[in-house]
Formats: sequence, structure tokens, C-alpha cells
Amino acid sequence: MIKLSLLKPTGHLTLGNLLGALRPMVAGQSEGRCFYGIADLHALTVPHDPAALRSLSVETARLLLAVGLDESTLFVQSRVPAHSELSFLLESTVHTGELNRMIQFKEKGRDQPATRASLYTYPALMAADILLYRPEQVPVGDDQRQHVELTRDLALRFNRTYGEVFTVPEIVTPPAGARVMNLQEPTTKMGKSHVDGAGIIHLLDAPDVVRRKIARAVTDSDVGAAAVRADRTEKPGVTNLLDILEACGGSAAGVTTYGALKSAVTDAVVAQLEPIQKRYADLDDASVSAVFEEGAATCRQVTAPVLAAARTAMGLA
Ligand code: AMP
Repeated sequence: MIKLSLLKPTGHLTLGNLLGALRPMVAGQSEGRCFYGIADLHALTVPHDPAALRSLSVETARLLLAVGLDESTLFVQSRVPAHSELSFLLESTVHTGELNRMIQFKEKGRDQPATRASLYTYPALMAADILLYRPEQVPVGDDQRQHVELTRDLALRFNRTYGEVFTVPEIVTPPAGARVMNLQEPTTKMGKSHVDGAGIIHLLDAPDVVRRKIARAVTDSDVGAAAVRADRTEKPGVTNLLDILEACGGSAAGVTTYGALKSAVTDAVVAQLEPIQKRYADLDDASVSAVFEEGAATCRQVTAPVLAAARTAMGLA
């Protein structure tokens, strides 16, 4: 089975990324041939700072290795030119009406004085990202479902119009991973961010930073013997802390106060992050670059026949 996922280097990776995405990716490495990429081209679809993009791409690359994805083919999207090449071919099959319907474009482009054309055509790039590797299944969360449905439509249309080139992937629902919420606003997801938000735990946060952020996490005002309990509606902050504790291998057995809960969560999170931070510190830039260069070379090789078939089918010399 082929597994494929791309992460946008738009911020520092968080505990949410680790528990919701990276850990399942590491665990699934033995089940198939895995391709994991850094979607630096996607990062260009919104206003961006080139220096930040470069440093976040380097940091993300090193973190993917530090979390243990060393059995996968790791690459940076822009180092595999087939992605942008196939993207243009697919732009020549997608209709503007279809792109107009994309919720993500409407949401990210709303109220912006200058929206980049690449944000509008991004679904064609995402379709290229997927179709180049001929995966039979694509696990996708709700936020990307519409894009993958369009990917299927484009593959079917291409095959019908120009001949069978693409494998039409089946959309599968990933097993429910941990969903980590912002410690300050526990009803919103803990998203990536450039800035050191008090509610976001970054994978490279030092133990004392983790401790401070968790100590300040929003709980609520009811105290007493029954205060430490899961209740997503009434007690989202406490529930989030309990979820994090469980996902990090800790236990709330015998924990009756918010203080004790926060201390247990801190210990469990620090224990998860410490080995990652140690491996991160031990990796040197040259070996990270070598792994990613080798990965990109593999991807160029794997995707070449698919791109060549698409080019030929469309009548390009
Ligand atoms: P993003 O940071 O939105 O580009 O997401 C990259 C991957 O991490 C996706 O698979 C997300 O589902 C996952 N992810 C991001 N934030 C969280 C979170 N707070 N909890 C769980 N999974 C998350």
C-alpha cells in the first residue's frame, strides 16, 4: 500500500501535529511504502516571508526525522518538479466553476484585498501531489475532503478524455487520532503558528516553557472532588488536558485537583518531547539534507512515468 501525506511549512510543528498526524505516520511506516513531503509550494499560496519559509522548511525537515520517520521517503515538494508540471496539466482539465466551489478558497480568500491566483488553483496542485504517486487510498480529514473529491473527478475526467493514466484513489476516513485543542481557547484546534502563543505547545518548546503553558491552561471555576472529569461541552479545557494526558501515555487515576492534573500533563508531554528534542539536537544539517535529497531523487524516479504518460496522453511532444 502506498501512503502519502504533505505538511505545509507554515509554522512551527505543534503537539497537535505530533499526536494527530506525525505519531500515526510513524506507527504506520511498516504497513506500506510511505512518501512524506514538505509542501513548500503550498506555502506560497498566501502572503509569505521567504526567509521564514526557508527556515521553517529546514526545521520541519529535521523534525520529521527526529520524530522517527526515517523509514519513509522524505522530500520537499519543490525539489520534485513533476508536482508543478502535472499541476499545470491538471489546471488544463479543471473548470473554473469547480474551483469557485472550493470552501477553502472562499474562506482563505474572503475579505483579502489581493488573493493570489495560486490559492485559487491550489486544488490542481494538490491533485498532482496525490495522482503522481498512484495511491489506491487517500486518508483525509473533513477539511481536505472536498479537494480529494475534486482530485477523483479530475482523474476520472482525464482518463475518460485522454486515456487511462491515473489511478482513481478511494477516499478513506483516517482512524480518529487525538485532536488537541488550544490551551487558552479549548474549543479551537491547537494550530500551527509562527508566534509563541500561550495556548500552543511547539515540539521544540523547552520543558520549563511547556510547564508554564500548561500551568496557565484554561480550566474552569468549578472546584471540588468532581472537578477533574471529562465533559466536552461544560469543561472543554479540562477535557483537553485529560485527552492530552491519555494520548501521551499518562493516567489521571487518583488526580483530583487541577494543579495535580496540570503537573501530570506536563510530565507526560515533556516525556514525549524530550527524545524528539534530543534527536533533533543530534542531527546535523548535512545529514538531514542528504536524506531529503535522496528522497527527492526517489520521488523524481517514481513520478517520472506518471508525468510522462500524462504528457503523452495530452499530446505534448
Ligand atoms: P496543519 O498543521 O493544519 O497543516 O496539519 C497537519 C496535520 O496535523 C494534519 O494531518 C492535521 O490533521 C494534523 N493536526 C494539526 N493540528 C492538529 C491538532 N490540534 N490536533 C490533532 N491533529 C492536528
